[in-house]
Amino acid sequence: MKKVLIASNNSGKLREIEAILSVYGISAIPQSAYEIGDADETGLTFVENALIKARHAATLTGLPAIADDSGLSVDALDGAPGVFSARYAGVGAGTVAHNKKLLSALEGVPRAQRTAHFRCVMVFLRQPFDPNPLIAEGRWPGRILEEASGEGGFGYDPLFEVDGLLVSAASLSPRVKNQQSHRGQALRQLVDLIRADPFLGL
Ligand code: IMP
Repeated sequence: MKKVLIASNNSGKLREIEAILSVYGISAIPQSAYEIGDADETGLTFVENALIKARHAATLTGLPAIADDSGLSVDALDGAPGVFSARYAGVGAGTVAHNKKLLSALEGVPRAQRTAHFRCVMVFLRQPFDPNPLIAEGRWPGRILEEASGEGGFGYDPLFEVDGLLVSAASLSPRVKNQQSHRGQALRQLVDLIRADPFLGL
């Protein structure tokens, strides 16, 4: 089985990435296997932060790396929390605090104006200073519920009602979430780019 390093310590993301890559016969090695901590996400865009994370892991291991930067953009909040989704209620705050802050920010906002989307940018670096990274992107539209629903997923999933399905992302099975989600879209596209690269042959 081919192996690829995943520049993330987020267990929710890793679970989803591992499941998708396994379909292609690719084994995902989390950066924790090399005792690599989180990179400082100093970028202002998803693409900058994904490249920072992949470069950090590739530099410390000497291996090619995949990284994902993702987040939730809410229209009524001018796109917040966006790239700051993991730090919305403060650095080190947990999912409960982030979700509580989101519900407070949208208090009184009617259903029609609670539209939102998840965004994911997924990058592949062949080496730390790869001048031509492979970059893919996914977008998953929905709206923010007034209360949490569902037991699965991670992060904002219990508050995110998926367009067309009318249930929360946390109510979907892992397989259905991966088929539809921003991360599933971006990763399948990235694998196609990697496989089309004459020098990689994954
Ligand atoms: P980052 O990519 O490490 O900056 O973190 C992205 C943050 O966005 C996560 O910590 C979650 O809060 C949120 N997020 C990204 N993708 C998802 C998802 O699929 N479900 C729920 N929350 C997500």
